Amino acid sequence: MIGRLFSVVSQRAPSLLHRVSLMMKPQVVFVLGGPGAGKGTQCSNIVENYSYTHLSAGDLLRAERAREGSEFGQLIASYIKEGKIVPVEITINLLRKAMEETMQKDEKKFRFLIDGFPRNEDNLQGWNNVMKDKADVKFVLFFDCSTEVCIQRCLERGKSSGRTDDNRESLEKRIQTYQQSTRPIIELYEKLGKVCRVDASRSVEVFADVKAILDKED
Ligand code: UDP
Ligand code: MG
Repeated sequence: MIGRLFSVVSQRAPSLLHRVSLMMKPQVVFVLGGPGAGKGTQCSNIVENYSYTHLSAGDLLRAERAREGSEFGQLIASYIKEGKIVPVEITINLLRKAMEETMQKDEKKFRFLIDGFPRNEDNLQGWNNVMKDKADVKFVLFFDCSTEVCIQRCLERGKSSGRTDDNRESLEKRIQTYQQSTRPIIELYEKLGKVCRVDASRSVEVFADVKAILDKED
């Protein structure tokens, strides 16, 4: 009897554990900062050292732009070139799908760095409508970088990135969008005490600061 009970329990234990881990709510860090602030670079560094999955909203949009048969390809292309922010219905679906796919493949991957989102009020509303109850936003990692450095980095990157928006004309629009639409979102999170700021104008030691923040917050 006890033997049987034990075997039932031991058979059940893994599946119970499995179910508990499936229930882990995604833990999200929003990564924000101007164009060229180093969001992508630092996210790659984080992924190498911590158990986070990096999802770049910009990369997801560029992949959707390139996807054959996408009904949004044209729209995304023109928004990106103009430095405008794509309607959130498109972006949030890409993010939600990417998060779901990641967790379906490996239920231990429930920590996400969401890079370059939310960039405006519309983005934030879309997140709140679709994801607010499904995921926890732990904090905002803010790469604070001077406009001059942002412009220089993007122009330098433009020599090899092949991006349609790493040129002076698009860049001016992106900077304007950042200042008008994204900064207020960062300020909003600041008021909630949820912003961890990194001085990202420097060319070295940025990751040391990032590490200190993650070690403290985790
Ligand atoms: N973009 C958007 N919504 C997002 C993220 C990006 O519309 O949530 C578009 C926007 O046009 C932006 C461009 O994609 O200017 C490039 O974004 P990315 O984050 O890749 O650029 P970065 O700031 O890293 O240079
Ligand atoms: Mg980027």
